Amino acid sequence: MKGKLCTYCSTPLYFQKNMEWNANGTMYLKGDISHRMVILDCKALNNSMVQLEQRVGVPITDAIVRAKAAAANRYINTVLSGPLGWLSRSFSTIKVYEKIAEQALYLGYGVVRFTEYMRRVRLEGQVINPYLPMMMAGDIAGTFSSVERKPGRIRFEVEDGLMTFEIDQDQRFGEMLRARLKPQTPSIPAISSYRRCPECGVPILLSRFKWNLAEGLIYDVKTARRTAIIGMETIQSLYDDLEERLGPEVPIYVMEIEKERVRKDLEKRDLIATAEGYRRLLAQLRVRGMGEVAGVQKAGTQLRVRVNNPYSVPAIVALVSGAYEALNQIDSKESWRIDPRGFLDITVEPK
Ligand SMILES: [Zn+2]
Repeated sequence: MKGKLCTYCSTPLYFQKNMEWNANGTMYLKGDISHRMVILDCKALNNSMVQLEQRVGVPITDAIVRAKAAAANRYINTVLSGPLGWLSRSFSTIKVYEKIAEQALYLGYGVVRFTEYMRRVRLEGQVINPYLPMMMAGDIAGTFSSVERKPGRIRFEVEDGLMTFEIDQDQRFGEMLRARLKPQTPSIPAISSYRRCPECGVPILLSRFKWNLAEGLIYDVKTARRTAIIGMETIQSLYDDLEERLGPEVPIYVMEIEKERVRKDLEKRDLIATAEGYRRLLAQLRVRGMGEVAGVQKAGTQLRVRVNNPYSVPAIVALVSGAYEALNQIDSKESWRIDPRGFLDITVEPK
């Protein structure tokens, strides 16, 4: 993968061609503005899934695989649109999958290898260092369905960081692919501009992430944690699905779990509870595609934050209130309002 990183900012040149980073806090796949993506912390995401499963008391693996498969199916449909897609599908060979697996390296998903392939019937392989095995399984199932134009059911196992998978064509899986995806287009333009890399044009702030393309890894240099680029609608459709089946408390659980994690993560950091301190802390939201912070106000013990184009209401509220607790060393209560124009107002104060 030599020569594939920008010589100025070290971001893969792949993104210059394939991704749009907007200053309004959104990033999306070029050619499909509704396919918005976010850079998520893998450990936090895994923690959130494990704890959510404990709280709701039933397995959620299938729901995760389903949500990710539906989003991956749509993503690959976009990637394979036009003559390339026609060619790929008409003469589908293992090479089509290898080409797609190369993209997984840029997104931080790990290294995918294929060991067996029968056109329209079966695909087998391994993933070294999968970012989240349940989501990776969804990616593979969604990709198979898109390439073969036939749904498949996936089985997978993980041992010592190595995931093995096999997928067989199965019409029943078609139902799973029809998870409710709600594509969104950002509605609020940016309020301030980005400083961009003079060579490749991505926001210069992306240099906070380091890509290891040989191993399919992305690290956040500031937190030393692994990250991955994930479709926003995966997260949304997963939470919607769980909420519909398990009850309205699901988003509250997500918020509580995230809030506790943010507080723990930030407690060790040396941060100051001023409006400027919060602004600096929340600035990373934009380059991660999570929204643009439009205002931070502190009046006495009350903190008010507005975020335009938020990627997930519970996650953003949890980030702000978790930060408030960490910086002030007190318990807090929060309220919020989502405006139909596309912004989220959050108020946090002592409990
Ligand atoms: Zn660059």
